[in-house]
Amino acid sequence: MLHADGNWNVSRLSELLDQAVVPHVLGVLSPSFDDVRDRVAWRLTPTGAFTVASAYEGFLSPSWDVCDPKWSSIWSLPVAQRARMFLWLVLRQRLMTNVERVRRGLSSDPSCSSCGCYSETILHILRDCPPVRSFWKSIIPQVEHECFFGASLDHWVAMNIKTSRALGPSTPPWSCFFPSFLWQVCLNTDASVSLPDHLGSLGGVLRGSSGDWLRGYRQSVGVVSPLNAELWSILVGLQLAFSMGFSRVQVQSDSSVAIRLILDPMAANSFSSLVRRISSLQNLPWSLRFLWVPREMNMVADGLSKLPSLNDFHLQIFDNIPESIRPLLVRDREGPPYRHRC
Ligand SMILES: [Zn+2]
Repeated sequence: MLHADGNWNVSRLSELLDQAVVPHVLGVLSPSFDDVRDRVAWRLTPTGAFTVASAYEGFLSPSWDVCDPKWSSIWSLPVAQRARMFLWLVLRQRLMTNVERVRRGLSSDPSCSSCGCYSETILHILRDCPPVRSFWKSIIPQVEHECFFGASLDHWVAMNIKTSRALGPSTPPWSCFFPSFLWQVCLNTDASVSLPDHLGSLGGVLRGSSGDWLRGYRQSVGVVSPLNAELWSILVGLQLAFSMGFSRVQVQSDSSVAIRLILDPMAANSFSSLVRRISSLQNLPWSLRFLWVPREMNMVADGLSKLPSLNDFHLQIFDNIPESIRPLLVRDREGPPYRHRC
């Protein structure tokens, strides 16, 4: 992939590599025959030699996400904080896709549980899975399809959050719409189990594409394990979402075990009746996505699950946000981003 003069052959690189990767290759001095062999070097010291001090400093350094324009462009978007947080997770490749599960040794099946595509990547979930693709095609002008559907993940996010054109004459720019359009409705679920009696309570919230409150719920259940309480909360939230007629729902839970059980290919035959019931809901005519999210993205559902009990086991529906939850929602929508180091 070098020209005769020893420089990179950009055309050849462009043929073989993703367009977003090419500039990174070009940023490396092209190899020459009289170079020494490649060797491992530590990038946090000017000499390339590892030191514990530099590793510690690098680990604590708060500047990684500030210096890179990719991160600052996300945190400066005038959208709800949870939308920014979600984009951050996308670009950090922290969404628990089936490909990621295989990579971590949690599963042997990387295929999409919705369409059967061999590889369920983040881009597949957010853009390329047929039901989602249909949605994007309905709002993206046809002349832009090739660019929109052909971009790599980083490039796709970058170009969409930089696009200033609007869908209509009096609507905000696309860069503000895009993070919200990544899902139609977001269902956050959580549960808590009190000690020592092990009584469980569920909570959850349905929010629209701009983070607006649609409906919340809370329910006390009996003696239950923390995992079953999490699963139960997901089930109740899904039943509520279906009854409201939503067709594209992204379920977010901070219980990785619950999400893993639901996404197991054998979920329909699970030992858990809760998992089987949730699995059966996936056969209804709607599109569901299940994502693990960090607890920081789930604080409203957490707050709802901890609301005082009305001493019965009936489902409480909140058409309007309870006052005690409002600060959590405001923090979620408008507060400064939670800081992460990884
Ligand atoms: Zn799919």
